Amino acid sequence: MDRREFLGVASTATLALALIPAVFSEDESRSALGSRSPKKADRSKVKIDRIDLFPMRYPMTGYFKFFSGPHGSAGRAAVIVKIMTDDGTVGWGQSVPIAKWSYETLETATVVMRDYFAPVLIGRDPTDIQGAHAEMDRAIAPGFTTGMPISRAGIDLALHDLTGKLSGKSLAQMWDKPKGGPITLSWTVNVTSLDDIGSVMDLGKKRGYRHFNIKVAPDPDFDVALAKEVRRFLPKSFLWADANGGYDTEKALKAAPRLADAGVDVLEAPLRPNQISGYQALKKQGALPILMDEGVVSPIDLEEFFKLGMLDGVAMKPARCGGLVSNKRQIELCQRCNLIWLGSGLTDPEISLAATLGLYGAFGLKKPAALNGPQFLTADVLKKPLRIKNGIAYLPDGPGLGIQVSEEKVVELMKQSGGQKWRIS
Ligand SMILES: [Mg+2]
Repeated sequence: MDRREFLGVASTATLALALIPAVFSEDESRSALGSRSPKKADRSKVKIDRIDLFPMRYPMTGYFKFFSGPHGSAGRAAVIVKIMTDDGTVGWGQSVPIAKWSYETLETATVVMRDYFAPVLIGRDPTDIQGAHAEMDRAIAPGFTTGMPISRAGIDLALHDLTGKLSGKSLAQMWDKPKGGPITLSWTVNVTSLDDIGSVMDLGKKRGYRHFNIKVAPDPDFDVALAKEVRRFLPKSFLWADANGGYDTEKALKAAPRLADAGVDVLEAPLRPNQISGYQALKKQGALPILMDEGVVSPIDLEEFFKLGMLDGVAMKPARCGGLVSNKRQIELCQRCNLIWLGSGLTDPEISLAATLGLYGAFGLKKPAALNGPQFLTADVLKKPLRIKNGIAYLPDGPGLGIQVSEEKVVELMKQSGGQKWRIS
């Protein structure tokens, strides 16, 4: 048991001892008594009755460039979404905005879901997830691509959880796929000084990680030195460099062959996604497989970027794409078009992480995934934490996302971070 698992178990046990009568919310108590679901014949008539939103910030450890400044340093923003149907069934989801990664923030995600997405979903069939996305498209019009995708992913995840609980099916079963997994994780090395590489990697190695991803750009000299050093420690690991759009085309064209020589296996997001000709030039150069991340939101974006010859693959993340519907189609597109797809994330806390693991498992991800929530986050809201041991994440079992959320822990974390619950009904 590593430290995180130990803390998770310890805190769950403490909470259970202190709060036995209140541990189960009303709906979950009924579930525990086996009376949550209506008779089978009634399930098609179930409607979304209310949506609760819990904005919060998760406490963090370690340095990660996206979590700095007045907002980010306060912790990892998230809005937990609880959708309840008129028969009392509950689905949980989570929106995970990072203001320094894209334009969505804790505040805008809360307002968008509270005032635009949630009101148009009340009274709808929760299992009509496509229909819910169409309603959300009408509520917030797309820009270049899907509007407010990180916010809407929280709704998408909760609807998948709810649909799975109503049908008794896991994500994989809903998609007629094998469960798959477990998923090997990759440790993120984000340093501002080369002197810190050893200590950051040691932390990962102590936790049993064997694969590392590095954050690069804007300085290719620094990046090459970083890549060489990481490669020196681990000659056979999968080494993945992510520039988060931090080079310009000229720099990226010079950096890519040098990073390849230093032992990097793939280069992700060398440029901002609107640098179309730059991406085309990098792909043509062929020094490294070029993956996109930022800017790939809807499957249409991905198909167009592919037709334009901008990429060799994609770093997937349901949280970026509006959720599982969109990201699943993108994986299918990659499989059809022989594109590389790697598993990534947005430093996902456990609800978003569970959904992401379920997707990657069902689609047979084999390469190490850059899912670094377990690396940087120090709290969780599950009754039983996800099983992550020696850098391996085991897929949760059970209907929907396969997790049980402790509403008491959710409320506690929200209050600790000064958040306020919102109910839309
Ligand atoms: Mg990335």
